[in-house]
Amino acid sequence: MTRIAIIGAGFGGLAAAIELKRAGFDDLVIFERGEDVGGVWRENTYPGAACDIPSPYYSFSYAPNPGWSRRFAPQPDILGYLRHLTTAYDIGRHIRFGAAVASADFDRATGTWTIATSNGDTVEVDILIPAVGQLSRPALPDIEGRDSFAGPAFHSARWDHSVDLRGKRVAVIGTGASAIQLVPQIQPHVSRLTVFQRSAPYLLPRLDTRFSRLRRGLFAKVPLTQTAERGAWFALTEGLTVAILYARPLKRVVEAVSRWHMTRQLRDTDLGERLSPDYPFGCKRVLFSNDYLPAVAAPNVDLVTIGIEAITPTGVRTADGAEHQVDVIVYGTGFTATDFLAPITVHGADGRDLRAQWREGARAYLGVSVPHFPNLFLMYGPNTNLGSGSIVFMLECQARYIAQAVRMSAGRPLAVRPEVEQEYDDELQGRLRDGVWSKCSNWYRVASGRVVNNWPGTVSEYRRRTRHFRRDEYEPVG
Ligand code: NAP
Repeated sequence: MTRIAIIGAGFGGLAAAIELKRAGFDDLVIFERGEDVGGVWRENTYPGAACDIPSPYYSFSYAPNPGWSRRFAPQPDILGYLRHLTTAYDIGRHIRFGAAVASADFDRATGTWTIATSNGDTVEVDILIPAVGQLSRPALPDIEGRDSFAGPAFHSARWDHSVDLRGKRVAVIGTGASAIQLVPQIQPHVSRLTVFQRSAPYLLPRLDTRFSRLRRGLFAKVPLTQTAERGAWFALTEGLTVAILYARPLKRVVEAVSRWHMTRQLRDTDLGERLSPDYPFGCKRVLFSNDYLPAVAAPNVDLVTIGIEAITPTGVRTADGAEHQVDVIVYGTGFTATDFLAPITVHGADGRDLRAQWREGARAYLGVSVPHFPNLFLMYGPNTNLGSGSIVFMLECQARYIAQAVRMSAGRPLAVRPEVEQEYDDELQGRLRDGVWSKCSNWYRVASGRVVNNWPGTVSEYRRRTRHFRRDEYEPVG
């Protein structure tokens, strides 16, 4: 019986567990540091948290959910979906909650992995599948005096619901995907909102809608209707990817739509110039919103575009010497996304340290397999994030590929051949080097300049390349 350990019970861990169970593997243990499934969808409870890819597409193809309340489902819907899958596929009994993995060590003699948790438990398995996400560790900015602030201060992914923002002066630092969702939600309730923007995001119209009871009934009774909606969004997001990556004329059209959308929303204000992005379209994630700009233009909001110099006990000081007095600070400053697998220590064949091997930046064949790390298969690994499209689709591809790998590697640990991974990496980095994500600062790149998070193609290409596990690309180790 193949013994398998999965780290994380978020979208990725559940995707892997479901696929493996469907393939007949039942000796699974899932280590989850939290007390519930859901990963980032358990942790991100900030006001307005919702997916920014339409839910009929942001879900597993084999598990459509006719119950989405909106096209862009809010966080409680998505967490509910993941809890439902856990029950429906009988995953719950495999999960060890409150178990943070500290280390994983491969033993060449036995061909097994020993997993140790921070509370001292150890487990020996044949296959290790880390599914710890890319956006699970909040990044707090390194700003002087950050700890000196006297009031409540928290990150968007660690929302402090005990703090009542009504009537307060609130600072939001950052204007990325999380901030543009939360700003419109809190703006009507606070007395003064100060938004600190380092770079303006490109926005596109959010074609959201409430799914009526009739629509949901139709999704349930005629599943093809939801499949059709899924297909339409698949095509649209693939089109956006093609526009951003390959087709300049198409990109100019989409950028024009974005600028039109933004200008139209800011027509009666003098904010247009300051909210206009000054970097190439697509270099940072393009965001979908209809309510962010009107919220920033509201009379109780100040948009500050001058750099932050320090946090003081009473607020934020900017480089022009201005003191912005606030009662609460919200950090919408993103995640330490390039630090794959941190803080877990992983040793492969002959004691190789994964962090040392990834000194120049994380890399893996198809985002899944790392040379010298036998029977280790990553979910949402390096270069599998998307500029546009559904990560859930990518996870499904990875889970299918891994299920095939597990079947092939039964009884003899397999690691991807170094030359196969090298050729793949050369190709990928060649495509990424002069690509759109190298043209501005973003969270996809490491100091060496390598883009380590994003996949440089369409999801169709990724699907094609991960469809079949090729045994000849791997070598036995042990
Ligand atoms: P993010 O997109 O990385 O945005 C962080 C923001 O903080 C940026 O505006 C950044 O400015 C700013 N910032 C960082 N450090 C700063 C500093 N020292 N001073 C001033 N500003 C600073 O983070 P996020 O909004 O949390 O989103 C991260 C990712 O999570 C998204 O790209 C998306 O993939 C995912 N997400 C998805 C959803 C969804 O709907 N599915 C929702 C939320 C998040 P710069 O741009 O200048 O660096």
